[in-house]
Amino acid sequence: MNDWQSFESAYPLLGQSLRFARLNNRLAHSYLVVSSNASLRNSFPLLLASLVACRQPGPDGSPCGECPICRELADGLYPDLFQLAPTSKSREIKIGADDDDPDSLRNFEAKFYLTSTTPNGWKIGIIYDCDTMNANAQNAFLKTLEEPPKNCLFILVTGRPSALLPTIRSRCQILTLTDNHCKYNLDDFSGLMEILMTLTFHAHGSLPEAEKCAASLIEMMNALYDKAEASVNEKWKSRLAESDNLESSAKKLIETRMEGETGCEYRRLREEFLSLIHTWFAQLVLLASAQDAVLPNPEIMSLWLEASPRPSIAPREAVRMLSEAEYLLRVLNTNVNDELAVRSFALSVAINVRAGV
Ligand SMILES: [Zn+2]
Repeated sequence: MNDWQSFESAYPLLGQSLRFARLNNRLAHSYLVVSSNASLRNSFPLLLASLVACRQPGPDGSPCGECPICRELADGLYPDLFQLAPTSKSREIKIGADDDDPDSLRNFEAKFYLTSTTPNGWKIGIIYDCDTMNANAQNAFLKTLEEPPKNCLFILVTGRPSALLPTIRSRCQILTLTDNHCKYNLDDFSGLMEILMTLTFHAHGSLPEAEKCAASLIEMMNALYDKAEASVNEKWKSRLAESDNLESSAKKLIETRMEGETGCEYRRLREEFLSLIHTWFAQLVLLASAQDAVLPNPEIMSLWLEASPRPSIAPREAVRMLSEAEYLLRVLNTNVNDELAVRSFALSVAINVRAGV
């Protein structure tokens, strides 16, 4: 089974309608791919690009997966593939000062007005985590979406479509890849549950304990970027080794792609880290009112569930802690200092808590 076939077996209706569109020359110029699944957000746009650009599609319209174009797309070496992502730790895609400002919308857009290096070929632009475009960048990009240069395909990718201007959404054909599993990869966050357990049950009223929890949470959060970088490097290791024999421009393409992926992976890890903290306290509220409550993610509470005796908490306290967690998520979505926000969260969970009990 090639990549397209396995995609279509998971999303038969969507796969079929895209193939039909290709057969009838009715593909859109811009797609908005919406999915809560980070690895789909990473892999599907390239598959969609190969559907559009493949030189030898099957009689059913599906991309062959084997022609030079399909292979170059999969390897990140297609010369007219341009990708934009919130790189490094910055969580914002900006317009940029001029065409040469790297990782900016202006730099990205300029490439679509240059002569194609693949004659008659497609220029493909993918904006990962496009919700990180700030309002100015989104407004600027609207013009391109309204009048796209010839033979250009734009694929915007997001897990948070609500953060996009309605005008952006309405100019794209929306492809929703639903994924019902909210599964956490706890291996990425070993130690987090111990910290939350301590913070919830053993740090109350103790400033030194609360500070210790805060420091551990901050250390963990700060390590996420390195973790993202390491996993992307690992994934590309062999290809990077092969690229020693490639031209420098091809090497550069791979490096740009890796940078973009690292930014996206960092954002994914950070979101998952915060979501885990939130889910811990949300489930704590359920457990505080009924010890045998059915939990959506019991694996997160295993330390508590396996403790004997299980530490107890008053429902009112659990609710208060949850609202601290919700507040933390809210402020971290604005541009506050991460460390400050996490520290103040840990202190208010621990210190304030028992005072009123
Ligand atoms: Zn092909």
